Amino acid sequence: MATVTFDNVVKAYDNGVTVLHDINLDVKDGEFVVFVGPSGCGKSTLMRMLAGLESVTQGAIRIDGARVDGLVPREREIAMVFQDYALYPHKTVYENMAFGLRLRKIPKSEIDARVKEAADILQLGHLLERKPRNLSGGQRQRVAMGRAIVRHAKVFLFDEPLSNLDAKLRNEMRVEIKKLHRRLGATMIYVTHDQVEAMTLADRIAVLSGGHVVQYGTPDEIYNSPRTTFVAGFTGSPPMNLLKLDLDGARGRGHGIEIAVPSDVLQRQGRLGGGHITLGVRPESVLHAMDRNTMPAGRCALDARVVVTEPLGAETLCTFEVAGQQLVARLGADVRLEPGTAASLAIDPAKVHWFDAESGMSLSQRSAK
Ligand code: ADP
Repeated sequence: MATVTFDNVVKAYDNGVTVLHDINLDVKDGEFVVFVGPSGCGKSTLMRMLAGLESVTQGAIRIDGARVDGLVPREREIAMVFQDYALYPHKTVYENMAFGLRLRKIPKSEIDARVKEAADILQLGHLLERKPRNLSGGQRQRVAMGRAIVRHAKVFLFDEPLSNLDAKLRNEMRVEIKKLHRRLGATMIYVTHDQVEAMTLADRIAVLSGGHVVQYGTPDEIYNSPRTTFVAGFTGSPPMNLLKLDLDGARGRGHGIEIAVPSDVLQRQGRLGGGHITLGVRPESVLHAMDRNTMPAGRCALDARVVVTEPLGAETLCTFEVAGQQLVARLGADVRLEPGTAASLAIDPAKVHWFDAESGMSLSQRSAK
């Protein structure tokens, strides 16, 4: 078990392009941290630097307070699970797990005990004599995790481990990984571009964009208090609706919406400047009423047109058009709306998020932490 810290870490590749800028992150002992962001944001590079597979251009990486960025991978006591499993095809499951320990000259009885322990944790006991080609994708992924477990490493790294699996198996393995974390209590760092994986697995999430950590917080903080429009638009499925409004005194106007902007938001907006403001509304905060007269009081009402409905069983996603802009609402399971028909929507002003239209920075009190 171990803490991990990134202190002012910068990465520039040989072509001179800086792909990670001044990264500062701390991972607590036993914490599950997810690096999430779109393709190319730098999350794999960050993990590969921790593993020792990439050099650090500037700054320091520490495990339990001791610098590791000068050490070779083998000396870092890190175990890594890759998306392509990287199993030896001609070795059995047992040998795949034992091989790294043999190279480290660990006694045979100790190897046997560790492999059996890992097989027990991952329910691989009956597969120990099989070769990888005779395993399912999920079983192969388990062997790859077993190989990490037997190392008794200080830190576990997962690099998009589930991206080669189909959706059902991915969900199952996600639960397996979460259980594994509970059972081992180990420090784990997990890289993914999938925000659902990030939200469900993480104790804390580092959201990366363009080589910067734009927010580092619990899933609850990331979801409920996104610091920027990028974070807001990246989390949630479907993500937050973002509407650019004209700021007219204390009111935001546009797309058929007119809504009062709270004074504390206006004050922060004043500091940042600009004649526009971005309104953020989660799909679950958009309400639908048959007509405006049935709308609960105190809500901001909008006239909309139904574009498409997606019944998902437990809920219905409905895309509306509001004065040229699309707005997605998460509605009840039994809601059935005909495309092209008129609808009345309402937004609860207490549930909206405010962002500076130019910088994308949050103006809402709850995300100003
Ligand atoms: P992610 O894992 O978020 O998809 P990466 O860490 O793989 O992103 O890449 C971050 C950026 O670094 C990308 O712009 C990528 O093109 C660039 N990059 C990755 N590896 C190299 C390399 N060996 N040489 C130059 N640029 C690289």
